Amino acid sequence: MSAPVGGRAEATASASDAAPPAVAISLDDLHKTFGTVAAVDGIDLDIFDGEFFSMLGPSGSGKTTVLRMIAGFETPTRGRIVLSGKDVTGEPPFARDVNTVFQDYALFPHMSVHENVEYGLRVKKVGRADRRTRTNEALETVRLHGFGDRAPHQLSGGQRQRVALARALVNRPKVLLLDEPLGALDLKLRREMQIELKELQRDVGITFLFVTHDQEEALTMSDRIAVFNNGRIEQVASPIDLYEQPASSFVAGFVGTSNLLDGDAAIKLIGSRGLFSIRPEKILLRSVDTATEPGDQICEARGVVRDVVYLGASTHSVVDLDVGGRLTVLQQNLESSIEHALAHRGGPVLLTWDRSHVVSLKPLEEEENQSAGEPSNQENQ
Ligand code: ADP
Ligand code: MG
Repeated sequence: MSAPVGGRAEATASASDAAPPAVAISLDDLHKTFGTVAAVDGIDLDIFDGEFFSMLGPSGSGKTTVLRMIAGFETPTRGRIVLSGKDVTGEPPFARDVNTVFQDYALFPHMSVHENVEYGLRVKKVGRADRRTRTNEALETVRLHGFGDRAPHQLSGGQRQRVALARALVNRPKVLLLDEPLGALDLKLRREMQIELKELQRDVGITFLFVTHDQEEALTMSDRIAVFNNGRIEQVASPIDLYEQPASSFVAGFVGTSNLLDGDAAIKLIGSRGLFSIRPEKILLRSVDTATEPGDQICEARGVVRDVVYLGASTHSVVDLDVGGRLTVLQQNLESSIEHALAHRGGPVLLTWDRSHVVSLKPLEEEENQSAGEPSNQENQ
């Protein structure tokens, strides 16, 4: 039931006769140790030409270190980095066809926007006319045409971020590495920039390798996502597969609210041993006297509403199950559902869900001789 684990997943293109897409970045058994810390602990990953690929994980999980090794700022302790078929593991940064955009996109404050963007071309000794054309093109791409004469302090945060992008794009790299580039922006602007960045990537067709600890950001923009945990990859998948078919309790908990069932609760409610996840929006919250349709397809659980959390567009109800364990139920606030949810606080309810929405997080055999050590309910950070 669960999606394939690991980085060598099939390309998303399903046509069997189409040539597989070319690999832009290939990481092979990549390790980086700092003293006793295994920052990157064995990464195998292929990223394809033109992909928007995100590395998602909590702080300290090794994402930046992977990015810095690809850029050439850090040397791997072990393993290989191959860019477009060329082994660059021992090559210096300038010999790699990649550019990096960092979170603190430090623009040169004393230079104009135009000078900031063309800086890389000057260093490469590109001629004046060519510099001007390419700089104007890059500024147009990020929708800053006409802003060339301004100083960085005359721009908004979002505009400065776009200058930083233009500064990288002007070099026309094959691969753009982005390390939490939207982290300094407020939420509203960040959401706008997410959409813009995705459109821009589609337009320019460059491979984007994007680092973030924000699951919503990764889900919004990516073709595929690698979930990092302790220097390793837990799962590589499309946003839909990652959310609908998390491969582990870590992924289920990091991407969305996990709602885990195990032990006796799993046996009684799902009908088998194991560790299972069910997303909060797949569960219906009903009155205990609701007449339900009996059948193999529908699971039912009785419980007591412990808490109701109003979230504007939706309401979360936290339900302690009679058989043990706890599930969070999400209801959209259509018409009167907030009153409906609040009316149940402290009282008994009936939860129902379709069996097809239950995701198995571990093979059943593994569970046989093992006491369940997983937390039974894990909220995202
Ligand atoms: P992330 O980007 O996912 O937050 P990092 O790659 O920055 O994670 O860090 C991974 C681990 O490596 C962390 O434990 C961090 O403290 C450690 N680390 C990163 N860079 C260095 C360094 N230059 N020296 C020592 N430890 C480092
Ligand atoms: Mg980082």
